[in-house]
Amino acid sequence: MTVDNLKVESKYLSLDNEFYEFTQATPLDEPYLISFNPKVAELIDLDKESVDDPRFLELLNGTFTPETAKPFSMCYAGHQFGHYAQRLGDGRAINLGSINGWHLQTKGSGETAFSRTADGRAALPSSIREYLMSEAMYHLGIPSTRAVGIIGSQTKLLRNGIEKGAVVMRMSSSWVRFGTFQYFSYFKEYEKLKALADYVIEESYPHLENDEDRYFKLFSEVVDATAKLIAGWQGIGFCHGVMNTDNMSIAGLTIDYGPFSMLDDYDFGFVCNSTDKAGRYAYGEQPNVSYWNLTKLALAFAPIADKKRMEKKLDDYGEFIYPNAYIEVMRKKLGLEVESEEDMTLITELVGTLQDAYVDHTNFFRVLSHYDGERMSLFELAMNPVAIDEWLNLYDARLEKESFSHEERQEKMLKTNPKYVLKNYMLADAIALAKGGNLSRVEELLYLAQHPFDELPEFEKFAVETPEHYKNVTLSCSS
Ligand code: AMP
Ligand code: MG
Repeated sequence: MTVDNLKVESKYLSLDNEFYEFTQATPLDEPYLISFNPKVAELIDLDKESVDDPRFLELLNGTFTPETAKPFSMCYAGHQFGHYAQRLGDGRAINLGSINGWHLQTKGSGETAFSRTADGRAALPSSIREYLMSEAMYHLGIPSTRAVGIIGSQTKLLRNGIEKGAVVMRMSSSWVRFGTFQYFSYFKEYEKLKALADYVIEESYPHLENDEDRYFKLFSEVVDATAKLIAGWQGIGFCHGVMNTDNMSIAGLTIDYGPFSMLDDYDFGFVCNSTDKAGRYAYGEQPNVSYWNLTKLALAFAPIADKKRMEKKLDDYGEFIYPNAYIEVMRKKLGLEVESEEDMTLITELVGTLQDAYVDHTNFFRVLSHYDGERMSLFELAMNPVAIDEWLNLYDARLEKESFSHEERQEKMLKTNPKYVLKNYMLADAIALAKGGNLSRVEELLYLAQHPFDELPEFEKFAVETPEHYKNVTLSCSS
C-alpha cells in the first residue's frame, strides 16, 4: 500500500471525549528523511518503496494526514519520581489511528493540549535513540513499541544548547499506561474506568472479554506481563531511566524511550538518568520499582476489582511471580534446561561476581555462550578473575545435571545472549554523524539492531567492551 492509501481506524475515539483531545501537528521546517524501516512498514502493509515517496515525509511531518485519520493526543496521569501528577498526557505525541492493530503515533509534532509549558518537540538525539533502540529491543526478544521512520529538520529547539527538531513515527499494539487508569480513578469516574478496562481488554487481553471477573483478571495479567518485561530488561541489561507510572505500559511493553542505557560493566547501582540523583531508577532497582508502580495500579483498580485479591497478587509478585520470571530468563542465558532448586543461588552468586569483577555485561554472557570448560577467555574479560573462577566451579557442577552437550548448549545460548547491543556511546556517535549530515551510521546501527545474535565480521568493532572513557554515559530526561 502507498502512503496515500493508508486507512486507519481509531477505536480509542469511541471512549468518552475526556480520554483524548484532537490535535493538529505543527510541521517542522525543512524536513528530511533520516531513516525508514521496511521491516516495520510491512506490519502496516506499507510498501517498502515508500522510502522514496515524498508523502512519507509529509506523513511524519503532519502535512499529510490519511483521510480516515482524526489525529488526537491521549490523556493520562502518573507518578513521576514518586510524586503524583494528575494531568500529563501526550505532550508531544499525536495518534493517527491504527492499522492491523498497530497504533501509529508521531512524537515531536508540536504542542498538544497536554504540553503544559513545554514545546511539544523531540530533539534529534533522543529521536534517533528511540528509533534505533526500540528496534533493538524487539529483536532482542523484549516486548517493545516499534518505529517505522524518522525525520529531521531545521527547526531549532532549546535543550542543553540548541538542537534540531525531529519526529519519530512509532507504533504500538497499545499506548495505554498505568497512568491512564490513575487519571480516571483519581477523579472517581468509575464508569470511565470500566470503559477503559474494557477497551484495554479488547485491545490487549481479548481472551478476557465477557469474563465476569475480567477486571481483576486484567489486573492480574498486567502484573504477570510486567514481571516478564522487567525480567527481560534485567537479563539483557537494559535500564529504562524513567519508570514513572505514565511510562509503564498496560500491555507490558517497553515504551517511552528516554535516557535509557544498556549496561556497560555489570553494575546494580548504575543510574542512566542524570536527573535521577537519588538513583530511584537504578538498574538494580527496576524490579522493586515495578512492584511499587503495580501497587499504584492496584489503587487505581480498587474501585472495580477486589482489593484483597489484588493485594495477594502483589505479594505473589514479590515472592515468586517476578523471581520466577527472572530465574527463567537467567536459566536461558546460562543454557540450563533442567529446573533445579539451587538455580537462584547460582544466579545470585553470578551477579554478585559480575558486580565485583568489573566485567562487560553483554560480552560476559556472549563469551560464556562459547564455554566448553576452557576458562581463560572469561578471565580475560574481568578485573577480578578469581571470583569468576569460583563461580565457574559452581556452573560446572550445575551443568552436570543437564543432558545436553557443550555444543547443543552453546547453540542455544548464542541465540539468547546477543553479540551486539546498542550502547549509549554507539548511539552518541551515530547522532554526532547524523548532525553533520552523515546518516550511514544510523543505517548501520539499524542493521545491527536487527541482527543482535549474528556474527558480523564487518561490525566487530561494535562487539568489544565499551571503551573506558565511554562507559556509563548518562543522559537527562530532556536530552
Ligand atoms: P516522559 O517522561 O519523557 O515520557 O515525559 C513525561 C511527560 O512530559 C509526558 O506527558 C510527555 O508528553 C511530556 N513531555 C516531555 N517532553 C515534552 C516536550 N518537549 N513538550 C511537551 N511535553 C513534553
Ligand atoms: Mg512518557
